[in-house]
Amino acid sequence: MRLNIGALVGNKGDFLEVEKEISADFIKSLPDVNHVDGPLVMNLLVTNTGEGYLVNGHLNCEVVLRCSRCLKPMETKLKIPIEEEFLNRRPEGYNEESFLDEIPVAEGNELNLKSLIEESVLMNIPMKPVCESDCLGLCSICGTNLSDGQCDCDTTDVDIRLAPLKKLLETATKSPERRKDHGSTKEKTLKSKN
Ligand SMILES: [Zn+2]
Ligand SMILES: [Zn+2]
Repeated sequence: MRLNIGALVGNKGDFLEVEKEISADFIKSLPDVNHVDGPLVMNLLVTNTGEGYLVNGHLNCEVVLRCSRCLKPMETKLKIPIEEEFLNRRPEGYNEESFLDEIPVAEGNELNLKSLIEESVLMNIPMKPVCESDCLGLCSICGTNLSDGQCDCDTTDVDIRLAPLKKLLETATKSPERRKDHGSTKEKTLKSKN
């Protein structure tokens, strides 16, 4: 995402209001994001400070997160603050080892906002979101949503992300004798083929 600031170059104190829609594709690949509704809407004020360009404002985006416990989709409106100064040139003596963060610098008539936008989203998107603070999550064995009621399982050592799959498999293979001869049908079939 490159922003043309040609109108501000050389005019200290001048500012530019920017309202722009940009692709929210990179948000879709973040953990706990189910999908993204619409674009990322950028509202920024860019001011020529003499030393560089101060970028201030926020990003708005509607995302559907997944509850990190029960996987239920949750519509969430994100309003992400943005603040960064792009310098006209790197400070004297700049080298990548002596500065922990890379210092953003204007590139001619343009500011490259990509890292700023992506980092601001990452810093502000909820980590491990939950639908309710008391969400009990899914049973790790049968995938039942424990907020809706208890199941009969007694162990807890299964990856929660596999629980819905397991539930699906059990429904698909459900038969009255399933519990009695667990696995034996499959073993017999394999032996007879050898
Ligand atoms: Zn939940
Ligand atoms: Zn269970």
